[in-house]
Amino acid sequence: MTDFPSPTDRGDNCPGTVRVHPAADGGLARLRFPGGRLRPTDWAALAQIATDHGGDLHLTSRGNIQVRGVRDEALLRDRVEAAGLLPSVAHDRVRNILASPMAGRLAGHHDLGQLPEFLDAALMARDDVAALSGRFLFGFDDGSGDVLAHSPDLAAVAGVDASADGSGAGVVRLHVRGRDTGLRTTMADVATVLVDVAASFVSSTERQWRVPASGQLHDLVVVALRDHPLTTGSTAATGTSESPGTHAMTVGGEPSTAAEVPPVGWVDTDDGLVSLLAVVPFGVVPARLAEFLGAIERPSTISAERVIGLHELTEGMAEQVVRVLAPMGMIFDAASPWVEVTACTGLPGCSRSLTDVRADATAAVREGTLPVVGRQHWVGCDRACGDTGAGQRVTATPQGYVVGRP
Ligand code: SF4
Repeated sequence: MTDFPSPTDRGDNCPGTVRVHPAADGGLARLRFPGGRLRPTDWAALAQIATDHGGDLHLTSRGNIQVRGVRDEALLRDRVEAAGLLPSVAHDRVRNILASPMAGRLAGHHDLGQLPEFLDAALMARDDVAALSGRFLFGFDDGSGDVLAHSPDLAAVAGVDASADGSGAGVVRLHVRGRDTGLRTTMADVATVLVDVAASFVSSTERQWRVPASGQLHDLVVVALRDHPLTTGSTAATGTSESPGTHAMTVGGEPSTAAEVPPVGWVDTDDGLVSLLAVVPFGVVPARLAEFLGAIERPSTISAERVIGLHELTEGMAEQVVRVLAPMGMIFDAASPWVEVTACTGLPGCSRSLTDVRADATAAVREGTLPVVGRQHWVGCDRACGDTGAGQRVTATPQGYVVGRP
C-alpha cells in the first residue's frame, strides 16, 4: 500500500448526533443511514425524534436525515442510541455512504447486496478513519450512474466488467471523484479496499476534506488504490490528473444500459413487485408521515435527490400507500414542479440568508412563476448549501434572485 506523509486535523463543521451544530432555529443534528437505507423501525424512531424536536425531519443529498430545532441534546442522543442509530460515537459523522436505490430491482441495475452495510462495519472497525471529514463521501453504484453523478470521493460500480476475471460476477470497478480509475476489485474485498485507501487519505499532510478532482492528492489516492494488494487492473489509460478517466454517466467507457427509472412514481420491478418513488417539498418529512412510512413495514431508501423509495410492495399495497400518503404530502407525480425544485434552509433557520427562500420558492411554484424551467436549487446566499450541481442555481441577492452559477 502507498504511504502518505503524516496525520492531520481535518476538522469541519458537519453536524452529527454527538456534535449538534448551532443554528438560528436551535440545534441541527444529522443522522447517518449508510446507503440511504432505512428499516421500518428507523422511521418509527425518527417520528418520535421529530415529535421531540421541531416536528419535522429533513432529507439530505447524501441519503441522511437532519433534525432541526434541537433544544435537548441529551434527549436526542438517548432516543438515537435506543433506536440503534448511533452504533459508533467516534464514527458519528463519517458514515456517509450513497447507494443506488433500485439496485437489484431492474435490468442493468446490478445487485449491490449488503455492500453499504459491510463498508459501514469496516469503517467502524478502524480508529484511523474516524478522523475523516464529515464531507468525505463513499458510493456504491449499480451501473446506472445515479450515484457516480454525485462524484463520491471513493466509489465502486457493480457488475460492469466481464473481462476482469472471465466471468464478471462479483467484480466492481473503482472510481475516484466519479471517474473510472481502470482498477477493479471483488465485491467481497471492496469494503477493505475502500477503508484502507480512506485511511491513507486521512493520513495525508494536505488539509483537504475531500479528494480533489485533480492534482497531487487526487493522484496519490489513485495510486493507493493501484498499489493495494486486493485491486487489479491498470491506471495507464484512466484515472490520474494527466489522463482524467471516464466521466460519471458512462460505465467502463460505455453508456449505461440500466433500465430507465422515472424520478418519482410507480415502478414495476423484475421480481413482480412494485417500488414507489416520491418526493416531499424541500425534503421535509413531518413526524406523522414518518410514522406512516414505518407502518408500511417494507424496506425504504432515500436517494441523493431526496427521493423516498418504498420497495417490495404488492400492487394492492402500493395502491393503498398512494391513497393514504398522497394526501399527506407525498408526491408521486413526475410532472409536479416539486420534483424539480429544491432549496436551502434560508430564513428563519439560517441567519446568513437574505430571505425566506422556501417561502419564495413555494410562492413561485403555486403562482407558476418559477424563474427557469427544469431542475433548480434555490439558495439564500452564495454559500449555496445543498447545491449538488444538477440543474440551475437560483440565488437570492439584494437586487432579487439571480439564475446561474458564478
Ligand atoms: S446557502 Fe446560505 S442562506 Fe442557505 S442555508 Fe446555506 S448559508 Fe444559509
